[in-house]
Amino acid sequence: MAVREVLLYPHRALKTVAAPATADDPRTAAVARDLLDTMRSFGHCTGIAAPQIGALTRIVVVDVTGHRKAATESGLLLLANPRTIESAGDEVGREGCLSIPHLTANVRRATTIAVEADELTLHDDGTVTATPRLVETDAFEARCLLHEIDHLDGILFLDRVDSLSRDVFRRKSYG
Ligand SMILES: [Zn+2]
Repeated sequence: MAVREVLLYPHRALKTVAAPATADDPRTAAVARDLLDTMRSFGHCTGIAAPQIGALTRIVVVDVTGHRKAATESGLLLLANPRTIESAGDEVGREGCLSIPHLTANVRRATTIAVEADELTLHDDGTVTATPRLVETDAFEARCLLHEIDHLDGILFLDRVDSLSRDVFRRKSYG
């Protein structure tokens, strides 16, 4: 277990498409554990993706439990190979990212999504198992999942803003 350094834009790993993750690869358990530790080391963080800690494998963590903007809350989502199979609606909302700490931006995303993934369960002996999982969610949790899935394809929220001059803001606080 370890808190890892979060890579900052414009690090190359953040613009690279990550490879599928498998439960029998020992690196999968290590990356999953480190993602959880790293996310929890930031008190206000609702998600992180493996490329942000330099692991080019398709694993994300999202947890919006108790967040004031959340509607649906699925608890801790530790997902390998997530893929969006349905999406509907669209809404502009403010996003930030651990890898771009000084900026926030207005980003248009779907409001209701269905995501298929291999849910990872970490065991005390250091191994990990994967179970098929369908996540159907909306609002803030959907936005967080889509943001993290984008990281697996080398896409950052700045790539999704309509106007760099109008929709990007310098962050004033980190609360
Ligand atoms: Zn991010």
